[in-house]
Amino acid sequence: MKVCIECKKELKKEDLKKAVKVKDDRIIKTIRSIKKKLNIAANNELYICAECLQEHKRKRKDYEKNMVLIIALSVLIFLGLGFLPIIAAGQFRLSSFLAGLLVGAILIVLAGILKYTPAAEGT
Ligand SMILES: [Zn+2]
Repeated sequence: MKVCIECKKELKKEDLKKAVKVKDDRIIKTIRSIKKKLNIAANNELYICAECLQEHKRKRKDYEKNMVLIIALSVLIFLGLGFLPIIAAGQFRLSSFLAGLLVGAILIVLAGILKYTPAAEGT
């Protein structure tokens, strides 16, 4: 089935002429393989229909902006947790360093996948 990822509508032949295919990137492939393992894969071909294209472009831009913020925040958390003991107590603490790394990574993965807005082909 060929569906629009925004309005979830099934696309007919005439819709497909103006629809844009979703870029099959690493995150899409990862989500698909997870779904396959869980047996909930729909095996749909993903498109963005002509009506949703403007809206999708806006969402994609927002997503890119948000990811920059999330990554910056993660780096700050990591630096804060990792280096605060050095500044405060003058000693390196591995547990704190690892906690910072973990929190930062979880934040990026959660924000990156849950709010994932794929790119359209050709962008
Ligand atoms: Zn649509």
